[in-house]
Amino acid sequence: MARDHGFHPVRITRIVDETPDTRTFALDAPFPYRAGQFLTFKVCGTLRSYSMSSSPDTDGELCVTVKRVPGGLVSGWLHTHLRPGDTLEATRPGGSFCLRTDAVERPLVGYAGGSGITPVFSLVKSALATTPRSVSLLTAHQSSGSAIFREALDALAARHPGRLRLHDHLDDRDGLVGAEEIRALADRDADHYICGPEPFMALVESTLTAAGTPAERIFVERFTPAPFKETPADAVPAPSEETSADAVPGTVTVDLRGQRRTVPQRVGETLLQSARRAGFTPPFSCESGDCATCMARLTDGEAKMRVNNALDADEIAEGYVLTCQAEPTTAEVTVIYED
Ligand SMILES: Cc1cc2nc3c(=O)[nH]c(=O)nc-3n(C[C@H](O)[C@H](O)[C@H](O)COP(=O)(O)OP(=O)(O)OC[C@H]3O[C@@H](n4cnc5c(N)ncnc54)[C@H](O)[C@@H]3O)c2cc1C
Repeated sequence: MARDHGFHPVRITRIVDETPDTRTFALDAPFPYRAGQFLTFKVCGTLRSYSMSSSPDTDGELCVTVKRVPGGLVSGWLHTHLRPGDTLEATRPGGSFCLRTDAVERPLVGYAGGSGITPVFSLVKSALATTPRSVSLLTAHQSSGSAIFREALDALAARHPGRLRLHDHLDDRDGLVGAEEIRALADRDADHYICGPEPFMALVESTLTAAGTPAERIFVERFTPAPFKETPADAVPAPSEETSADAVPGTVTVDLRGQRRTVPQRVGETLLQSARRAGFTPPFSCESGDCATCMARLTDGEAKMRVNNALDADEIAEGYVLTCQAEPTTAEVTVIYED
């Protein structure tokens, strides 16, 4: 039986201005969730994920915190249109950027850049409340005016003296975050949780790796999937017309909302990319194999997933794949997106 991938109405109960461009939305959403997970919202037909900034262990309400991206479709809409009492459509929580149950005594180090603080804040609150772990947190923001949760973090540190150490980095005061700052936190015995802009994440990951931190102790959450270009349906070549040098023998047939289209296979292309090339706009969110928003069922042929942090063994046995990660391994593949 596939997981519940449907959308559910959630009501906005409260809106809090955190900084001039960041707002927290408290939701009446009766979902169980784990610290570090996210919800995927459908707004004007577009899917976007937002991590919970609340902790299921310390906060009585479920909250997401959204930074308004200049020119951003959904973040702009949420900021402009939502009022308490309004209803949104959201999936059940997903994601695996969570505390490990086997790590109750291991130190935890968080690295959060900008809006990347949201899931890290949730993790830190849960770790402090449910384990004896010591926690260090590096927060990087452009200026004090954009430091999301500054007062809440100071209050948390005051409630956990000696257990929560905060390292505040402000670009306008300290310049950009440097490797030295990260090396100072690179405890090889700790679990390291990273979320923020791509260059920040790349610097933290590479510095931790160079300092000898094992890969299994580094956890990342990416907010920004790789960009892609939609192919209009009428521009899709028929399989017999395909001339790409990347074409390989075989086809991918995609079934979405009652429409079925077939495109030739291409070297190294995921099923999600094939579906887009077929002119579809299939569901997706993280494009990292973490969220399962893009999951679909293979009814013919086989495919191999590069990364799977979202599907369980039963779902895989039933033929489900993460289309953002699955590449065909047989000549003919048919995949059905089930709404
Ligand atoms: C697992 C996960 C968790 C996340 N959690 C959070 C969170 O807790 N808080 C948070 O704030 N965000 C979070 N995000 C990011 C969030 O999902 C959105 O990506 C973000 O809000 C931007 O979406 P948008 O629709 O506003 O912007 P988009 O419309 O997608 O635009 C993004 C950028 O692209 C530019 N752009 C858009 N269209 C064009 C175009 N035609 N040409 C050129 N440039 C263009 C925009 O100007 C903008 O800079 C998360 C993402 C993931 C995957």
